[in-house]
Amino acid sequence: MIIGVLTIGNELTSGKTQDTNSSYIAREVVQRGWKMIGTISVGDDYQAIKDGLDYILARADAVVVTGGLGPTVDDITTAAIARAYNRKLFTDEGTLNHIKERFARANLNWTNNNAKQAEFPEGAEVIPNPAGTAAGFALKVNDKMITVIPGVPMEARRMLAEGVIPVLVRAFPEEQQHLERRIIKTFGLAEAAVDERLADIDLDSLGVGIGFYPNFPEIQVVLTTSGADLEKAKKNLQQAEEQVVARLADHIFGFDQDTLEGVCAALLTEKKLTLAVAESCTGGLLTDRLTDIPGSSVYLERGVVTYSNTAKTDLLGVPAEILNEFGAVSAETARLMAEGVRKLGRTDIGISTTGIAGPSGGTEKKPVGTVFIALADKDKTYCRHYRYRWDRRRIKMITSQALLLMLKRYLKGELTDE
Ligand code: AMP
Ligand code: MG
Repeated sequence: MIIGVLTIGNELTSGKTQDTNSSYIAREVVQRGWKMIGTISVGDDYQAIKDGLDYILARADAVVVTGGLGPTVDDITTAAIARAYNRKLFTDEGTLNHIKERFARANLNWTNNNAKQAEFPEGAEVIPNPAGTAAGFALKVNDKMITVIPGVPMEARRMLAEGVIPVLVRAFPEEQQHLERRIIKTFGLAEAAVDERLADIDLDSLGVGIGFYPNFPEIQVVLTTSGADLEKAKKNLQQAEEQVVARLADHIFGFDQDTLEGVCAALLTEKKLTLAVAESCTGGLLTDRLTDIPGSSVYLERGVVTYSNTAKTDLLGVPAEILNEFGAVSAETARLMAEGVRKLGRTDIGISTTGIAGPSGGTEKKPVGTVFIALADKDKTYCRHYRYRWDRRRIKMITSQALLLMLKRYLKGELTDE
């Protein structure tokens, strides 16, 4: 099946809002083994919407449209589609009631322009919006399928999965082969390096497709295969996976829905180990990520941001002489921070970050991007030194990732001295 995306909104064409829906939808489509012909963004304009649909549907079986489903006069997507294909509008009573109930629950006054959100082109099938008032719809026109969902990314994502994809699967059943997909998540290799390592694997003969999706700071390798025979597809995918895993080895931190913090959380919980975190250059990001995981209080005892030298001395007991002699950004300081926070929290493990996130503060010996991370248990302290060439935000992110990877390796008994 071939699909195009049309995103609608003046805020997109003026650059006020970045169009994140199209890339999200494209990823979902491609990962299902369907083809994307491209994305068009247009403003809230009747002719532009028609032209966009014409362009895409001349080349694709279906289009996913987002945006312009709001109650205000500038949102005209439904009316524009109805006009483009000579359809009258009808009011869907179920949707109207759903919107009125949401208003009542939120104690909002009902105004009649809101009834517009319950109108759909004749022949359309309503795609409910569980998270908002803007319902979407699917309309079949001359064997092509037009699907429309709101612009709000959270709503669009949910309705894509729960509404649009099932509609497309039903509309084009012959396209429905058994699709198998495996996402292999890596960290620590550049995209080109991942590509190079995998270059000699013969995935074609297995009928397996491969895609690389950088999602900073990780790179996802996505394997897909489809076929009429589910068992065969699964077997081929597994064979491909084994070869990819063998070549990327310890750069892999998870599969499919895994996150690195989630993998660490599961290991800490399983091993009944507790953790204390001392952060300098990451400014709390690492603790933030760890606390994204439900149930994190089981293993996370505390996280402290010790940004100044005084904080490192006062809270973690890093001696002023060490800070003076080796500097706050040094292996010695990182080690003492990890040991100090472990003692402070009376935990099994202490971890720490210290580095120069830039853009200023670098020296010749310790340029911007110099980072030390450490992990201490009751017997031993491990330390790693990196030099990252990214901007400030990315240095913080990649440092938190590197430390989580170190923690994961430690928990799996794979962390070596250097
Ligand atoms: P709309 O459905 O046009 O009322 O859009 C509602 C809000 O969703 C807009 O104000 C934007 O902030 C956001 N939005 C709309 N389209 C997109 C898009 N393609 N990508 C990301 N955000 C969007
Ligand atoms: Mg809009």
